[in-house]
Amino acid sequence: MRLRAAALCPRQSGNAEMTRILHRSIGGRLPQAAAGQGIFITDNDGRSYIDGSGGAAVSCLGHGHPEVMAAMRAQMDRIAYAHTSFFTTDVAEELAERLVALAPEGLDYVYLVSGGSEAVEAAMKMARQYFVEIGQPQRRHFIARRQSYHGNTLGALAAGGNAWRRAQFQPILPETHHVSPCYAYRDQRDGETPEAYAARLADELEAKILELGADEVIAFIAEPVVGATLGAVGPVADYFTRIRSICDKYGVLLILDEVMCGMGRTGTMFACEQEGISPDLVTIAKGLGGGYQPIGAVLLSDKVYRSFAEGSGLFQHGHTYICHPMAAAAANKVVELISQPEMLANVRMMGERLQAGLDARLGQHAHVGDIRGRGLFRGIEIVADKETKTPFDPALKMHARIKKEAMARGLLCYPMGGTIDGRIGDHVLLAPPYIIRPEEIDQIVERIGGAIDAAVRS
Ligand code: PMP
Repeated sequence: MRLRAAALCPRQSGNAEMTRILHRSIGGRLPQAAAGQGIFITDNDGRSYIDGSGGAAVSCLGHGHPEVMAAMRAQMDRIAYAHTSFFTTDVAEELAERLVALAPEGLDYVYLVSGGSEAVEAAMKMARQYFVEIGQPQRRHFIARRQSYHGNTLGALAAGGNAWRRAQFQPILPETHHVSPCYAYRDQRDGETPEAYAARLADELEAKILELGADEVIAFIAEPVVGATLGAVGPVADYFTRIRSICDKYGVLLILDEVMCGMGRTGTMFACEQEGISPDLVTIAKGLGGGYQPIGAVLLSDKVYRSFAEGSGLFQHGHTYICHPMAAAAANKVVELISQPEMLANVRMMGERLQAGLDARLGQHAHVGDIRGRGLFRGIEIVADKETKTPFDPALKMHARIKKEAMARGLLCYPMGGTIDGRIGDHVLLAPPYIIRPEEIDQIVERIGGAIDAAVRS
């Protein structure tokens, strides 16, 4: 088969065209990123953008951070790659120790991979093998939530509950089961307290476990703060404590996917710290490497680890680039920097300022249904009708219009929606680097306000 040149060749026009098609971007050619410094990216035409979403909640330290680059250079000078069949490296060991020291109680082991989907795949396989190791091979079901995103590889896509992303791959996806997400803006009933809503959702999970057979379920997987599919939607109080106890009641493992919301993004290193629970497995990526290198990780509990150590002695998995020394060196420095108390305090402070600014600028806007989030992880849901919460017609691609208008104003925001199961409004995600300053937050508010005004008018 002859592949089209556009698919293969890095020639500017071909590659840009392919990128446009693959990512369904609207509005002509994508600009080329030429340089990045701090919270800014400059394109080849010399236009500057505030990286208001850190790409897709990735660039937690902004661009060109001198300490991260120095750590990478130093590693490159020593050794760029060594296969894990033969070696470990000091940077990988140090990173693992650092992560364990920062992790919620009970997560004592780390498995380093190359990204978010890979982390989710590994966590799902670890969970399955755990039950094989402890003599419960009949456990075969995963339960996840509708309107969630866990990655684009087959297992992770199967776990994700985004109907649009799954649709054409449905026949080849491993079977998974879904329950409702915790989405108070749309699903908490009039007069229902957050506690009663949380209890209703926990009951739904319990009913699903019983329907599938309590001793046949492997794990429940959820994002503590939902990123790409809902736009920074956190749980109501009590939700995760109830979910944890339902899982415990039936011996079901709890996997939390913190690929997007973890690594300080919500103001604490792990988002689940704010829920007061510890999962059995947690996945991280994005902010772990801060965009300097592709990296992800699974943190696992002693209980899961011991099943391997005392059982077959081998987690039957592995990719060529696990524990990559360059990625580990970058992440080790990134994690050292983002875990400083002053850095996390800035995430919380700037996050409050962003929420307050957005509330003031857009709170009364006829087409802004909800503004939500935690830390520097904020979502704005756009609706056609604020009273009834009716979304815009997906064909209008309101989220993409906002992205385009924002870029015209020198702001990057992460757009999603309009296609998510037909009932959720378009939304944009704001997730700027943690080094952001107050006046830059105010600029984001001004620019996104202008972009939304212009998009809904057009
Ligand atoms: N899980 C979540 C919660 C994510 O947000 C993402 C990426 N948006 C993934 C998994 C997949 O990560 P990656 O794109 O690095 O494979």
